[in-house]
Amino acid sequence: MNTFRTQLPDGFDLPKRIARLSELAYNLWWTWQPESQRIFGRLDYDLWERLGHNPIRLLREVDRSRLDLASKDAEYLALYDRMFANFDSYMNQKTTWISQSHPRLIGRPIAYFSMEFGLHETLPIYSGGLGVLAGDHLKEASDLGLPLTAVGFMYAQGYFSQRLSEDGWQEALNNVLDFHNLPALPVMDDHGNRLTVEVEFPDRFVTLGLWEIRVGRVPLYLLDSNLDPNSDFDKNLTARLYWSDLDRRVMQELLLGVGGVRALRALGYNPSVWHMNEGHAAFLTLERAREYVAGGDTLEQALEKTRRQNVFTTHTPVPAGNDEFPLWLIEKYLAGFWPQLNISRDQLFDLARHHMPQGETFSMGVLALRNSDGRNAVSELHGRVSRQMWHSLWPDGEEDEVPITHVTNGVHVSNWMARRLYVLLSQYLGADWYDHLDEPEMWKKVDAIPDNELWAVRLHLKRKLSFYLRERVRDRWTVGGFHPVQVVSSGVLINPYALTIGFARRFATYKRASLILTDVERLLNIVNRPNMPVQIIFAGKAHPADEPGKQLIQQVYRQVKRAETGGRIVFIEDYDMNLARYLVQGVDVWMNTPRRPYEASGTSGMKAALNGALNFSVLDGWWREAYNGRNGWSIGEDRQLESQSVQDAQDAESLYATLENEIIPLFYNRDPKEISHEWVARIKDNLKTNIPQFSTRRMVKEYVERLYVKALE
Ligand SMILES: *Cc1c(COP(=O)(O)O)cnc(C)c1O
Repeated sequence: MNTFRTQLPDGFDLPKRIARLSELAYNLWWTWQPESQRIFGRLDYDLWERLGHNPIRLLREVDRSRLDLASKDAEYLALYDRMFANFDSYMNQKTTWISQSHPRLIGRPIAYFSMEFGLHETLPIYSGGLGVLAGDHLKEASDLGLPLTAVGFMYAQGYFSQRLSEDGWQEALNNVLDFHNLPALPVMDDHGNRLTVEVEFPDRFVTLGLWEIRVGRVPLYLLDSNLDPNSDFDKNLTARLYWSDLDRRVMQELLLGVGGVRALRALGYNPSVWHMNEGHAAFLTLERAREYVAGGDTLEQALEKTRRQNVFTTHTPVPAGNDEFPLWLIEKYLAGFWPQLNISRDQLFDLARHHMPQGETFSMGVLALRNSDGRNAVSELHGRVSRQMWHSLWPDGEEDEVPITHVTNGVHVSNWMARRLYVLLSQYLGADWYDHLDEPEMWKKVDAIPDNELWAVRLHLKRKLSFYLRERVRDRWTVGGFHPVQVVSSGVLINPYALTIGFARRFATYKRASLILTDVERLLNIVNRPNMPVQIIFAGKAHPADEPGKQLIQQVYRQVKRAETGGRIVFIEDYDMNLARYLVQGVDVWMNTPRRPYEASGTSGMKAALNGALNFSVLDGWWREAYNGRNGWSIGEDRQLESQSVQDAQDAESLYATLENEIIPLFYNRDPKEISHEWVARIKDNLKTNIPQFSTRRMVKEYVERLYVKALE
């Protein structure tokens, strides 16, 4: 290993007895502990909420008197000692799943590249599901003892915050991240200077600095071009997620793919597996081939060697969803690169050539597929769709022989599960249930949980959600620019005892957010049923450049604002990981209405499932594999129609009829103590079948056993 350093900053004035809190603030391990909110929150809950759960700022800004009090409070100290005992034993753990099952992997790091990482709400370097999946992957890799090192970007501006105008038009507020208050440590060299790497463009070099984020035992290195001697233009290349103009997008992806490899080299890594989470990082395959060519290999040998170690995960079920660059643009930026590969212009293009309706393009998806031996989609149906989509790359065999397999996504369980439920499960499944969470056998013990205890936890979580929504509205109202009708539209009238349906996700048109609005009068009858009210909570951002997505939000918002909804259909601004946590924990039903087969997998439904919310979704992505007739409900059937409009109409009818005839009557079928035992039975079936299957525990193990180990051989 080369030597490099990261150092925790000083400047925390903490009582000695609790001085290690600053250390914890710089390791995101705390974020997925069941007691995560308490260890910092208890110091000053008000400030904790106001600072958006940022422990570094909290420790800098909290009153010294409160810290002194905590350092003498027996209950707090017990929590503190418990937390640090766990932390220390975790960080020093010798026996892990990897050490026991795959010791050969020790010392052979996996490099994991992603354009975004969703780790915590204070670090808005993610836009949606792709990033949250990557974040959960790192957390689980850490838990399993997998030697994984990740690479991404430290975006100076972060993803935008969302506001809605009175008329439902999305306004994007740019965030400016204050790195000083984030758990990101600058990487320094031996002489105390920033460690940097360079990427050459046709007319200049761009210099990248590195930040380290500690995710338990897994380090994440984030590239940052905002430093001298870069021009102002270049400093901005890593300022935002996904530049829409293609020029900057190519440059950004070159920085990730080429700069990312160089960063790992500068840090002294020699990874044995290179995992690309989506095609944005696919230039890394060229940089690695260049390394081999520089070492004396022919182009063929170089490509062959890198291919064996590469793993590519595709998340995109539409050809246009991949980054497709015009050939001239690639020529512009890679003209200096291909001579170093001993490759001609056309040979380079052949590595990524894609015939699109608009002509030939350079496809990052094709580049990654051609240059990786491990290739996977993210659900079974998505695997089938991907094999069909990419048949042209392997034209000699049948479609089902196209070498793309699938590893269905999962979510990190303790990252998303409410503490109350975690505690309840510990009581009935055994204190060590978490160590066995991917074993279906263990989950049979869920039957032993008394219905009333499970019901009580669910009610608690719903009350927490409605309280939280009210506090959000209060804050929003005081900021100003908020019309009174928006107060109602933001959930102040939400009743924690009514059946509550959540729909939160990116507003992309294929997600069909407005399907439930197909027949508004019928919907109003549903939500306003006497004695059986129903509430619907919408949330989600549209990409700022996605006009149809923004129009969809507006269309939903205009209905939400109608007085006839009785404040029962609401839209919560600014969906992020924090709001997601409240929603997946607090609603009764999680609804998803994508147009098949575009969902690929979907993960928010898994987060809801592990909290005892029941899924009600189109049989697409993960839900097609999960649904068994008892653990939730389906919208429509396991098939696709030729006509989208007919499909939409049939799905809408199925949605309404299932709500009216099954879901609502079941929820309100109460015993004298106001418990619906049939509902609880479904929750139990849901917990038993979905948690072991759709966790990152199962998923990361599958990546190891089916893709990483193979790449090692
Ligand atoms: C989980 C999550 C997503 C992804 O949800 P999908 O079901 O894949 O749409 C998006 N955004 C946030 C904030 C999430 O937590």
